[in-house]
Amino acid sequence: MNPPIRSVVIVGGGTAGWMAAAAAARFLNDGQRTITLIESEAIGTVGVGEATIPPIRGFNARIGLDEASFLRATGGTPKLGIEFVGWGALDERYMHPFGTVGHEIEGLNFHQLWLRLRDRAEIGSYGDYAIAAVAARAGRFAPPAGDPRSPTGQLDYAYHFDAGLYAALLRGHAEAQGVTRIEGRITGVERDARGHVAAVRLEGDRRVAGELFLDCTGFRSLLLGETMGVAFEDWSHWLPCDRAIALPTARQGPLLPYTRATAHDAGWQWRIPLQHRTGNGHVYASAFTDDETAERVLMANLDAAPTAEPRRLSFRAGRRTKLWAGNVVALGLAGGFLEPLESTSIHLIQDGISKLFALFPDQGFGTVERDEYNRLMGDQYAAIRDFIILHYAATRRDDTPFWRHVGTMALPETLIRKLALFREKGRIFRYDDELFTVPSWVAVLLGQGIVPSGYDPIVDALDADRVAGALRQMRRGYAAAAAAMPALG
Ligand code: FAD
Repeated sequence: MNPPIRSVVIVGGGTAGWMAAAAAARFLNDGQRTITLIESEAIGTVGVGEATIPPIRGFNARIGLDEASFLRATGGTPKLGIEFVGWGALDERYMHPFGTVGHEIEGLNFHQLWLRLRDRAEIGSYGDYAIAAVAARAGRFAPPAGDPRSPTGQLDYAYHFDAGLYAALLRGHAEAQGVTRIEGRITGVERDARGHVAAVRLEGDRRVAGELFLDCTGFRSLLLGETMGVAFEDWSHWLPCDRAIALPTARQGPLLPYTRATAHDAGWQWRIPLQHRTGNGHVYASAFTDDETAERVLMANLDAAPTAEPRRLSFRAGRRTKLWAGNVVALGLAGGFLEPLESTSIHLIQDGISKLFALFPDQGFGTVERDEYNRLMGDQYAAIRDFIILHYAATRRDDTPFWRHVGTMALPETLIRKLALFREKGRIFRYDDELFTVPSWVAVLLGQGIVPSGYDPIVDALDADRVAGALRQMRRGYAAAAAAMPALG
């Protein structure tokens, strides 16, 4: 039997590194294991990433962060979903809300019941049955409360926050629980006879040895990519956006409890409301526009004055073919990148950490845990990729070369299958533990203007007028529950 792993070395101190450190301090710190984090202030972090999805609340709770102090420390605000403007067609907008939408009747899917009756004027839109969407549109928010099937119990939410402040908060938390931080640039990596990373060398002739290495070095992927030689699988033929300009502005008007993603000629713009400022950024495809035009478009679409200089970023959509090789596990940008359209990157860090802990290689590095980790994470990346591609593929826009390209490009086979099933009878299946739920897929598909030609005939088993009555009641319930919530301010 191999001896248990006694030293964990986290390389990199961005959001990924400090999330891993805080979680390791909470769950791996048995008094006999050392947890060390190495970061270089001179290199710095990517410095963006402000919108999240609901599972972040579970992560914060598990590592022991109190919500009120977390929101204070990070300038955080609640997020009920994402509003997409100009995606299906130039003059359209829709909300992808968090939480469930409607509820089933006698075990039959809500969206199928809605599809059957949607032509009746009294039924309203699919979004009328999502408490998060109704509350978001009214600028109102209250945490979920009551029976999970009640309108307020069906609500789910995430946060917008300042990622730099979040990393600082996590750092304090992790250091207080015994994580050792080492400042310095890594200049070399030593490997043992098996090819595992044995130690990293730092400027100033220092050396840090370890048994398990978490590569959180950002786009550089110093250990997994550069040292272990794990290839990058490029997905830019499906997701051509490869640049961003980020620019904070002064807070303007009342806080909105949602992120906004506005489509432009060759990409899209995010708007993320924080307590003390608004985060903005233009994500665009360099094959379809140039940096100066992209900056002009961003400047022309701000709702307040900038409070800093623009920050320019370059990236490529895709992921490493394995996220765990030898004794190296990559978390965050070191493992892959998907544009922030559905705010999934920080979630992928969290998911990577929790899967790693679930498969922790406590007695050495067998292939069983490693292969399972790579399979699970690979599936998760691919499912999120398909969901993001959907926003482009399901456009009816053809007004610019960019939209003509994404609207006609070849799609992954997995997405083709999902689209075909939905187009016919509105059927959607969620595979394994894929992140986005059926209501999320339906909200985006319908929001982009894909209306199925039929519905699942199984819902004909219920009396139409009885279902209509139940839907009317549900809809009234969501409207009343949202109206009773306080305005966000
Ligand atoms: P980084 O922040 O780059 O950190 C890398 C760390 O490694 C740094 O500490 C650096 O000093 C260290 N390092 C690197 N090389 C060395 C070396 N040689 N020696 C020592 N240390 C080293 N995610 C979301 O969830 N929501 C969003 O809204 C969102 N928006 C985004 C917008 C854009 C334009 C981009 C590009 C990303 C966005 N993301 C978003 C992703 C998010 O920013 C990242 O997932 C997150 O910040 C994690 O980054 P990281 O810690 O992996 O890398």
